[in-house]
Amino acid sequence: MKALVVHKDGKDAPARHELVKFDQLDQLPAAGREAKAASLPQSVVNVELSTLNYKDGLVAQGRPGVATFPIVPGIDFVGTIESCAGGSFQRGDWVVLTGHYAGQQVHGGYAEKCSIPTEWLIPLPKALSPKDAMIIGTAGFTAMQSVMALERAGCLRSKDAKVLVSGASGGVGSTAIAILKQLGFSNIVASTGRVEENGDWLRSLGANEVIGRIENARPLAAESYDAGIDTVGGQVLAGMLSQIKYGGAVSACGVAGGPKVPTTVFPFILRGVSLLGIDSVQLPMGERTEVWKRLETDFPRAYLEATTAVKGLEDVQELSEKILDGKISGRVLISPK
Ligand code: NDP
Repeated sequence: MKALVVHKDGKDAPARHELVKFDQLDQLPAAGREAKAASLPQSVVNVELSTLNYKDGLVAQGRPGVATFPIVPGIDFVGTIESCAGGSFQRGDWVVLTGHYAGQQVHGGYAEKCSIPTEWLIPLPKALSPKDAMIIGTAGFTAMQSVMALERAGCLRSKDAKVLVSGASGGVGSTAIAILKQLGFSNIVASTGRVEENGDWLRSLGANEVIGRIENARPLAAESYDAGIDTVGGQVLAGMLSQIKYGGAVSACGVAGGPKVPTTVFPFILRGVSLLGIDSVQLPMGERTEVWKRLETDFPRAYLEATTAVKGLEDVQELSEKILDGKISGRVLISPK
């Protein structure tokens, strides 16, 4: 069996990738901070597929603050149960994992076999194939969470609602557009730094308009959008907030454009705009199951059937550089085999 182990030989050292062959899980180096997770009953999963997310890029490039090293990256995966303690899974059952710090503080899906707390696993939803589940992956899961948060905030009641999605070419952004289209929205605006390159593709996913990167010119700009889904943070989130109509909301999940948001209180106190934080990692199990139920019914088949690249562990070095440079479009699956 194979696994990709990322090492960091010192705080400022670059990440070092090692393709490890192993027969037993205990031949992999222990992950840095797995003590708490290791105290929970474990399942051993034969990993079929994982994916490449922005966070996997950060881990694979050894960026500070996201993982403890050495680590097998892969923040999500689908596979079959080999053995299960503390749960009712049977050998051969298909399961999905997203979040819970897999691939960050405990070994994740970039290995053919993984030991993981049983209570973190979700049975593969019946309507989805294993590949479907990973095309959705953390990105689609987070996109659906973002849509559900806007629904709860009451700003998606009309199918005419004008919704702005930033980082549109990325995993979360592109799946959010496809989900909104599937739900019948007809006023979806995609914001991307790659209008020329990806405009047609974004329109094919469901965007009614494609615009460039959002700028943050003024604390309050013209009220243009009923709601927003932000995957970028930084200036982009600030600019989005300044353009939301009275009583609208933005769900924010991302940091690809930086953690500092140079906004003012004015969108909140003069327009009643809400900022909805989205976290997919520690989401409680009940809500997690609700999100997967919605993905089962409302994730567009067209997106699932679109070509999705499947790459190997040896490609992760190059792919991780590309995703951090904003050069990946849509979804990339990683096969550990
Ligand atoms: P991707 O890399 O696939 O997409 C991010 C997109 O953001 C890029 O495609 C690009 O879109 C845009 N972008 C990248 N760099 C910049 C920049 N410097 N300034 C402005 N825009 C930029 O990542 P994912 O879709 O996997 O994740 C998106 C974000 O959401 C990440 O920050 C990730 O960490 C976060 N995330 C958070 C989760 C949570 O639980 N809160 C879960 C999943 C993801 P374009 O070229 O179209 O402009």
